[in-house]
Amino acid sequence: MAKHSFQTEVGQLLQLITHSLYSHKEIFIRELVSNSSDALDKLKYLTLTDDQFKELSFEPRIDISFTDDGITIQDNGIGMNEADLTEHLGTIAKSGTKAFLGQLTGDTKKDSNLIGQFGVGFYSAFMVADTIDVFSRRAGEDQAYQWSSDGKGEFETAPVSSEQAGFEGQGTRIILHINEEGKEYANRWQIEQVVKKYSNHIAFPIFLHYDEKQYDDKGKEKGTEAKVSQINSANALWKRPKSELAESDYHEFYKTIGHDTEDPLFYLHTQAEGTLEYTTLFYVPKKAPFDLFHADYKPGVKLYVKRVFITDDDKELLPSYLRFVRGVIDSEDLPLNVSREILQQNRVMVNIRNASVKKLLGEFTRIALEDKETYKSFIDEFNRPLKEGLYSDYANKEQLLELVRFKSTKEEGWVSLEEYKSRMLPDQKAIYYITGEKEHVLRNSPLLEAYKKKDIEVLIMDDEIDEIVVPGIGTYKEVELKAVNRSDAGEDLKEKKDKKKEKETQPVVEKIKKALGDRIKDVRVSVRLADSPSCIVMDESDPSFQMQAMLKAMGQ
Ligand code: ADP
Ligand code: MG
Repeated sequence: MAKHSFQTEVGQLLQLITHSLYSHKEIFIRELVSNSSDALDKLKYLTLTDDQFKELSFEPRIDISFTDDGITIQDNGIGMNEADLTEHLGTIAKSGTKAFLGQLTGDTKKDSNLIGQFGVGFYSAFMVADTIDVFSRRAGEDQAYQWSSDGKGEFETAPVSSEQAGFEGQGTRIILHINEEGKEYANRWQIEQVVKKYSNHIAFPIFLHYDEKQYDDKGKEKGTEAKVSQINSANALWKRPKSELAESDYHEFYKTIGHDTEDPLFYLHTQAEGTLEYTTLFYVPKKAPFDLFHADYKPGVKLYVKRVFITDDDKELLPSYLRFVRGVIDSEDLPLNVSREILQQNRVMVNIRNASVKKLLGEFTRIALEDKETYKSFIDEFNRPLKEGLYSDYANKEQLLELVRFKSTKEEGWVSLEEYKSRMLPDQKAIYYITGEKEHVLRNSPLLEAYKKKDIEVLIMDDEIDEIVVPGIGTYKEVELKAVNRSDAGEDLKEKKDKKKEKETQPVVEKIKKALGDRIKDVRVSVRLADSPSCIVMDESDPSFQMQAMLKAMGQ
């Protein structure tokens, strides 16, 4: 028997899980089933690609049973040896753990949602269990092991016999010794309901074991009989004809693969036939994934080849600006043993990826036109990643320009470039914008006075990314975009050049120039101010304030 301590972060997490997260306790079933499903995927893949496992007779399945004080979940998947148990159930591999802990809000509903998303799945079982025993044997190895813990800082591992483990062959059996909180889940109806809700479309059959009461002819109870029944539909939902699927089926499947308790904002199902045969089912969540802006975000799209799971950890399946999309890509044309390096350049994959981007952008465009309310929710969450696309996806720039939204001096809420253009004054030459950090500061900037006076709309850009992306846009439908804090942005403001006035002010200009010396480039008489006496602007060719600050931060 070997004693181990949990990694510090796991300890913190367990503390949180057991002390503060009480809503959606039911997700522990989803998490354990999802781990079993992953383990079955891994072994299935090996039986198809690795000679060592080709002979293995393997009927993937998940079994759930319960008693008054325990719930057991078992699979015949890849299994774990002692090192795996210590590593996988004692640490959190992902470096984002601290960030995750920092994101917890104290709002129990949101927090338990995060648990699933973050994939600290297994530990969620401690919400309903005082102690947990894991028995596991890794495929291709002879020794089974036990892992046990009460979730209070330490766990133990030890080798066990097949009898002690409770099964032959490879796989994992997890026994939850349930606490008061867990009691309500230890019955047939609850388990069935939760599995249907979150795990109906797991690709493998889930069997529930229960005792059914038996009655004699006179209706008198005469004991119980052990029964087993499959409680999920276990099919690849995305392969079923669209006509057979209801919205609720799609939503249910989303909860299975998106680790979300809410319905998605919308989805897009494509079954392509022709030179390339593939299926994609994409979802856009209602809320941005918590790791949207973490460098080590978890990609949300799973790749299958002929319904065999290949990977859910490939950031190249879609361009990174679409990393908030969840879903499935299933190809009939890729080889099963496609390697990650090959995947990047594989012609089939490149085609599917390009077509998927087109489909998604097309759907965003359709929603922008037909369903303003949904589009607003979409923009509230995902405007910023879309803007990233403006500099990373040149091929789709035109369409992305129609999709991104900005704040404006003319209207509340989000404004599109198209709307701006349609409102331009008859002889207006450019689309004007102002960038900076705080919306209210920008709105009150003296730089806007003259534009307001002339009734020229200015886009208010307070998103950090605007500074990086917008100068690169150049033009929208042949109209130039110009920052109002650039010295050449006064074009539309110019009254007729007033020679007399210029002459009159010349001595003042010279005085200011002298006083400020090298600290400035030039002093000019401006037409852009209405009420304020003066303002500082940038030369056309100089980097903006924010850009300068950024370059400085990057050590340039
Ligand atoms: P995640 O599933 O996001 O990796 P979990 O906390 O749910 O996080 O699981 C941690 C790890 O433990 C898994 O990645 C896997 O390696 C291992 N694991 C958990 N359950 C099983 C199982 N039933 N069979 C094999 N490995 C498992
Ligand atoms: Mg998991």
